[in-house]
Amino acid sequence: MQAASCIPPGLRYPCGVNYPSQRLGLLIVVSGPSGTGKTTLCRKVCDGEKVVFSVSCTTRQPRPGEVDGKDYFFLEEDDFLARVGRGELFEHAQVHTRWYGTLKSYVYDNLRRGIDVIMDIDVQGAEQVRACQDELVRRCLVDVFILPPSVEELRARLAGRATEDAATFELRMKNAVAEMAHWPRYQYALVSDTRESDEARFRSLLDSERLRSSLREV
Ligand code: 5GP
Repeated sequence: MQAASCIPPGLRYPCGVNYPSQRLGLLIVVSGPSGTGKTTLCRKVCDGEKVVFSVSCTTRQPRPGEVDGKDYFFLEEDDFLARVGRGELFEHAQVHTRWYGTLKSYVYDNLRRGIDVIMDIDVQGAEQVRACQDELVRRCLVDVFILPPSVEELRARLAGRATEDAATFELRMKNAVAEMAHWPRYQYALVSDTRESDEARFRSLLDSERLRSSLREV
């Protein structure tokens, strides 16, 4: 065969080929308006071992059933801003009048250990991650925008939740429509369908992205 003559004397295929080492984790940034099932989808594909959900810090109040340290780290505003001041946050933004942010240590430690990290963050936070010049982040980053099937469907889904008062609901709808204009900034756009279809497509996207050679050391 042609290729055989290229193998240096004394070496037999596949000797001499640097096989890919263990891979780095993927940093999966997921954005989209509330009501697309984005958070449920993100949590569904996390197994807590090989794929973890990045638990954010927030200054908003916990909703019924939400657990501190699992859904969010619920912080007082002065604590949150002190962490920002100390450079502990990877990204942070004000969303619906409250602060939200991702802890730096959590992201970096997991990526280096080959664990995929899913960040469910808003479009401002995603811009900050994309702008990050850190080589590790650039190698691991994949960003996905989840779109609702339509604005009417989004309204219906949000109304079904009934977790907030009328004024907050309208603010969320307004923000959602503004947020949706950002989808072309993302590598992937997933238009939500059924939960099963969304999950299947998201899993298949992650499976492909895990094959990226940029995740391997040569
Ligand atoms: P919710 O209050 O409904 O849980 O989240 C409101 C919005 O904040 C969602 O769009 C969610 O993606 C976003 N968000 C949650 N955590 C973070 C974070 O750590 N950083 C940023 N930038 N946005 C976040």
